Amino acid sequence: MKRKRLSTEKYLEGILSQNKVILSQAITLIESTNPSDELLATELIRKLPVSDESSKCIKLGITGVPGVGKSTFIDTFGNFLTSKGLSIAILSIDPSSQKTGGSILGDKTRMENLARDPDAYIRPSPSGSTLGGVAHKTHETILLCEAAGFDCIIVETVGVGQSETMVKEMVDFFLLLMLAGGGDELQGIKRGIMEMADSIIIHKADGDNIKTAKRAKVNYQNALHLFPPNLNNWIPQVSLCSSLQNTGIEDAWQIIQQFMNQMSGNGFLQKNRADQKQKWFTNLLQHKLLQKLYKSPELKQEINQSIERISSGQINVPSAVSLILDKI
Ligand code: GDP
Repeated sequence: MKRKRLSTEKYLEGILSQNKVILSQAITLIESTNPSDELLATELIRKLPVSDESSKCIKLGITGVPGVGKSTFIDTFGNFLTSKGLSIAILSIDPSSQKTGGSILGDKTRMENLARDPDAYIRPSPSGSTLGGVAHKTHETILLCEAAGFDCIIVETVGVGQSETMVKEMVDFFLLLMLAGGGDELQGIKRGIMEMADSIIIHKADGDNIKTAKRAKVNYQNALHLFPPNLNNWIPQVSLCSSLQNTGIEDAWQIIQQFMNQMSGNGFLQKNRADQKQKWFTNLLQHKLLQKLYKSPELKQEINQSIERISSGQINVPSAVSLILDKI
């Protein structure tokens, strides 16, 4: 069945008035690989207002291994934000869905309270053949959500080590959820991901866990001090939280606000946003140029022949590449 398409004006009107149904349809449009949808999506994106670096919209990245309680946290934290009068959009990136067609992050029923909250919008992970492709779609979805005027956009990802760097490059603040206990406190999550975090939450700090959670907090805070200092002079904070008991949620928000105030005061927020845009521009340009090249049947054939010639030892890699470049 052919899905209904609106005019770009109608999409734009719906997005600007934060109409969630139309926003969803617009996101589906930009995720589509159908050539006529791609044209319409390009036209729509061209018409979006351009947000500047001083935009008030806070972009948060949240990660943590499966089971750490990301969806429960986002559900509780999201409700806290909407109760403060903020509107929020939650997007997810799930590298597992690219490989298996299934998804660790699952569907939107993971956040039951938020799913019913009129001030919250939840969008599950886009599917796509490459993580890079999915990253571009998520970037574009963020543009739509910014245009829709959400106060806070949360990008959630599974902490399994593939998508965190990508998410870090889309957000202002990167939050890592961890669990206490289980032997070595630093296990389970890669050191590189810890280095990216602006804040670590020791989650499920309730019941019998409280004591170990407090100990873990000290350990993580000490571990973070051993990392090289951030250029923005921010010292990553560690806090405790129980989403089930609704404790530590306010602390988490205060740390984020403190970060945002400090970074917009010293100009790092604006600089980071400008750098992120530049990087996305370069990546997207490369991605689109390659896509365009691969669309040419002759060139595709040349590329395939080169691969065969490389495999059978007839030509080395740089020579094959320069022959292709000569043909462009
Ligand atoms: P995700 O895979 O990271 O999204 O994790 P979920 O949010 O699905 O939570 C995994 C399990 O941890 C579920 O059984 C939750 O009920 C439980 N859980 C989540 N938050 C808390 C919490 O604050 N305290 C405790 N004790 N359990 C929690």
